[in-house]
Amino acid sequence: MRLFDHHVHTDRSDGRVSLEARARSVAERPHGVSDHFPYRERMRTDDDVLRYLDEAARLGLRVGIEYDLGVAPPLRRSTLDALHYVIGAVHQVFLDGRRIGFDVAGAYLKGQLGSGPFRDAALFADAGLRRRILQATLEAVRDGVERVGIDIVGHPTFTPVAALGDPEAGYPVEWQERLIELCRGAGVAIEVNEAYRVPHTAFLVRARDRGALFSVGSDSHGEISPLDRTDEMIREARLPRERFLDGRRRRAHHDRPDAPSAASSS
Ligand SMILES: [Zn+2]
Ligand SMILES: [Zn+2]
Repeated sequence: MRLFDHHVHTDRSDGRVSLEARARSVAERPHGVSDHFPYRERMRTDDDVLRYLDEAARLGLRVGIEYDLGVAPPLRRSTLDALHYVIGAVHQVFLDGRRIGFDVAGAYLKGQLGSGPFRDAALFADAGLRRRILQATLEAVRDGVERVGIDIVGHPTFTPVAALGDPEAGYPVEWQERLIELCRGAGVAIEVNEAYRVPHTAFLVRARDRGALFSVGSDSHGEISPLDRTDEMIREARLPRERFLDGRRRRAHHDRPDAPSAASSS
């Protein structure tokens, strides 16, 4: 069985490949498309998202978005429901109004900065700052799970802390367990991300033991390539295949926010 890759970008945001080419590469291995929301002038409104959904779905693609947790403007419930799935991901946090971007750490984790140490390590030497970054990250994910109603948390343990070295030392176990429980309790899948190679094995094992769902995300911006690192992460953590999403959301409609609840008819 080949796992479905939910996290693939196109030239509708910062990917380099057209929707048409993505529709063709589905034959190589199953995948959807999930462009950034928001993205510059192209993905800013409900109408932009619905047009993207319509054009991609007409090519036979499964269609999601990568909703930028903590900064994306709200989308209508009907827009979110019309998508096949919604990935929520954190790319920065704000502390006292100051933006802490994750981009340099991301480029480092993706191997785009060459070999050698993470050049911003000194910025994150303070344990208090790291703790606040992790707290803000968890709050952004919580907002995505509880208010936006995301289906998947994209690259869940990607923060500058992951670029500092041993993630099991950088991420307190208690923080990891809160993140896992937040996802498991709501039926939100934890993404195994090929590009950043997160989460680390110990996190995935904890998530597996708690009964969490998972999702494959290559985070491809260029050609579709083999998921070697993902396969290795899945093997090392012994993640059961049946716990992976297959291009369809598992969160029941009534589990997502703002849907009419059966108990509220009184
Ligand atoms: Zn991302
Ligand atoms: Zn992405």
